[in-house]
Amino acid sequence: QKGSKVTFKSRYEHWIGGQWTKPVKGNYFEDISPVNGKPFCEIARGTAEDIDAALDAAHAAAPAWGKASTTERAAVLNKIADVIDANVEMLAVAETWDNGKPIRETLNADIPLAADHFRYFVAAVRAQDGDFQEMDGDTTAYHYHEPLGVVGQIIPWNFPILMAAWKLAPALSAGNAVVLKPAEQTPASILVLAELIGDILPPGVLNIVNGFGAEAGKPLASSPRIRKIAFTGETTTGRLILQYASANIIPTTLELGGKSPNIFFDDVSQEKDDFYDKAQEGFVLFAFNQGEVCTCPSRALIQKSHYDSFLGDAVERTKKAIQGNPLDTDTQVGAQASNDQLEKILSYIDIGKQEGATLVCGGDRVDLGGDLADGYYVEPAIFEGNNKMRLFQEEIFGPVVAVTSFDDYDDAIQIANDTLYGLGAGVWSRNGNTAYRAGRDIQAGRVWVNNYHAYPAGAAFGGYKSSGIGRENNKLALSHYQQTKNLLVSY
Ligand code: NAD
Repeated sequence: QKGSKVTFKSRYEHWIGGQWTKPVKGNYFEDISPVNGKPFCEIARGTAEDIDAALDAAHAAAPAWGKASTTERAAVLNKIADVIDANVEMLAVAETWDNGKPIRETLNADIPLAADHFRYFVAAVRAQDGDFQEMDGDTTAYHYHEPLGVVGQIIPWNFPILMAAWKLAPALSAGNAVVLKPAEQTPASILVLAELIGDILPPGVLNIVNGFGAEAGKPLASSPRIRKIAFTGETTTGRLILQYASANIIPTTLELGGKSPNIFFDDVSQEKDDFYDKAQEGFVLFAFNQGEVCTCPSRALIQKSHYDSFLGDAVERTKKAIQGNPLDTDTQVGAQASNDQLEKILSYIDIGKQEGATLVCGGDRVDLGGDLADGYYVEPAIFEGNNKMRLFQEEIFGPVVAVTSFDDYDDAIQIANDTLYGLGAGVWSRNGNTAYRAGRDIQAGRVWVNNYHAYPAGAAFGGYKSSGIGRENNKLALSHYQQTKNLLVSY
């Protein structure tokens, strides 16, 4: 695409057993770029038969990979990280073209972070200790970490390569073989990555089957041939995944939706200094990545005593966010990932108006003209209302923020926690005690205190309540891909 940093093939197959493999039923679907709303390649449309072939390959590869030393696995996975780093620009363009998010995000954050996750997890697995404990008498209990075997992974479209890395890095480091299903909206960038790294791994250790949820995702998640399913996506799909997994009694990790509160205490406005600026930027993050972030700060809670002035400045700042061609390096708000997503967002703008919320700015579809006229662009929208409204309770997954006020600390925490979800949250205060207490009192797996929207490998990430089960991005994630062997030895 632009700058010809990437050349997509016109057709992608599945990646199974170390080679490109045609779909058993012979069907393909189109991958559409949200940047211009046009198809750019064809993708194999997976079915249960393709999942079976991938599981055959994974089962053939799993024993040797699981028995390889952590040093051997580290050498392979560090090489993957090196190849990602060496191809950052190309992968960033591929990701932006496939997903619509600005190149400044993919280039500076998503792709480098993907490489870092491989390095983090191979280091974590090498540093893992087993343990032993002397029992009564002449018996000792030894504990070992063993891989699970073959695992299934299903990911969404909002950070395709990074979501794949979040899942693959711990699973492969721990010695499992994987069958991965990318989202049907954004398979191409992952397949570009597979082309780069596929041969580094022994054949069958990583298999990628493309396709739709009901046709390829369900047979994977419900297969009795996987020892674990890891899923990221909507909470409603997560419920189905749990049902499928229950039939086979396999561990399940779920990274689901969110409705993250971003709380601004009034001491933020004490001075119009760097801290104030940072908090303002923290507000505007709802619009970056087009709001297609599971931890999008989609509810802003502003203390009454500075509500009007803080919101006034935030509205001005939001209006200045640069929306445009996602491939331009100064673009801050790009394209929504799909037409369905665009329509969903526009329907929520209508819902907000109908339920009596006040639209302060934005909310219209944007026509960028020229080649981009059919791309999926929408103006970031700010609504004022109250926490009982659907705008405040349902995940929109777009550049829409619902703003409300609070009286005092207790009121802020009550509103923040009054939701089904518990994934992310932000707290902004110059008072360390207030900020820390709020960080502890908010029911969410990740609370950013005086910052927002960083996802370093190493910082545990995951949901409370209906936002999920399990943790990623920290050595804790290894335990989700391992089982404990106890040897009880008498001597
Ligand atoms: P989705 O649930 O529609 O789809 C996610 C994946 O599941 C896709 O690959 C899809 O093909 C597959 N799928 C759909 N139905 C299935 C079924 N019946 N069986 C098996 N697989 C099935 O979600 P989405 O719209 O792609 O992604 C957006 C959602 O992901 C949002 O809710 C967002 O909050 C969430 N998300 C969460 C995190 C997190 O870490 N918690 C990160 C990113 C996105």
